[in-house]
Amino acid sequence: MSRKFNFCAGPAALPEAVLQRARDEILDWQGRGLSVMEMSHRSDEFVGIAEQAEADLRELLKVPANYKVLFMQGGASSQFAMVPLNLGGKGGTANYLYNGIWGKKAIEEGQRYLPTHIAASSEATGLSRVPFQSEIQLSADAAYLHYTSNETIGGLEFDYIPDVAVPLVCDMSSDILSTPLDVSRFGLIYAGAQKNIGPAGLTLVIVRDDLLDQAQAQMPTMFSYKTFADNGSMYNTPPTYAWYLSGLVFDWLKNEVGGLDKMAEINRRKAQKLYATIDGNDFYSNPIEPQHRSIMNVPFRLADASLDKLFLQQAEAAGLLNLAGHRSVGGMRASIYNAVPEAAVDALIEFMTDFARNRG
Ligand code: PMP
Repeated sequence: MSRKFNFCAGPAALPEAVLQRARDEILDWQGRGLSVMEMSHRSDEFVGIAEQAEADLRELLKVPANYKVLFMQGGASSQFAMVPLNLGGKGGTANYLYNGIWGKKAIEEGQRYLPTHIAASSEATGLSRVPFQSEIQLSADAAYLHYTSNETIGGLEFDYIPDVAVPLVCDMSSDILSTPLDVSRFGLIYAGAQKNIGPAGLTLVIVRDDLLDQAQAQMPTMFSYKTFADNGSMYNTPPTYAWYLSGLVFDWLKNEVGGLDKMAEINRRKAQKLYATIDGNDFYSNPIEPQHRSIMNVPFRLADASLDKLFLQQAEAAGLLNLAGHRSVGGMRASIYNAVPEAAVDALIEFMTDFARNRG
């Protein structure tokens, strides 16, 4: 077996220890004689797995008791509609911060369900930083403020939590669990699973109790947070295997990594050395203001774009996979999520240094 270093933006690398445990348990989960994939979601066994996963997540993120944790489907993209549908029942305007492609998609979808207002945007500065707190101007009738804490394609991450008098809604798809978080500052947090949580197919929502009765009329049952909250996320058949694997990731974060403080320390170290390599070599560049650079997604360009293809080919031959930037922007991107080991970043840095020396 030769596992390579995987820098994919999502579905992304999973911790090897998690995959090994899943392999060991795949045919016969803890002596029950069947796979988790084959269990009824209503069985004691699966309900136990599901409850443990939620308890571990709550412990990791210190989720206060007045928040529900929902295990949904449809990806983060479905949340672009579910948020205004679930929070817009009392009218008002959906307010957004705009500093990247995912936030833009959230705005475009949100417009279909509520009036929208862009409370701050960093478009004028080329999306090279996030909006500052001092730039945020809510509309008078704001129902909530939505933002994307980490723009996965641009590689921008907020270094602060906006302070506003309306519920704060955050798409944390690509930085949840990368660092400790004060959940009490938010009304609602959501994240697609396929980066720092587990495999694709599961969408995590953390929502404050008082926001569960604000839905618009005519809500499809399966789009309603209340349906999920009232039924332990088991109104219908949940994505059981993805839920189980996510539980293994939470267990790994808690017991092998040692919690989110430790995880953040490792993530910061990984990101710092990669940015230092980019900044320290004329052959590479990253356009984001240092203060707002993502510690999860590190986009960079080669000084000579005609070498992009060769860079990717040689990287792959060196066991470094999925370094191409998003198809909409080109260039390179190294996603260095929780499960990407520091050794992967070290190997990438060595490769980049050698490549620049030989070709640059
Ligand atoms: N928001 C962010 C910040 C993302 O990175 C992504 C996916 N890359 C999405 C939303 C869309 O997620 P999904 O594919 O789960 O709908």
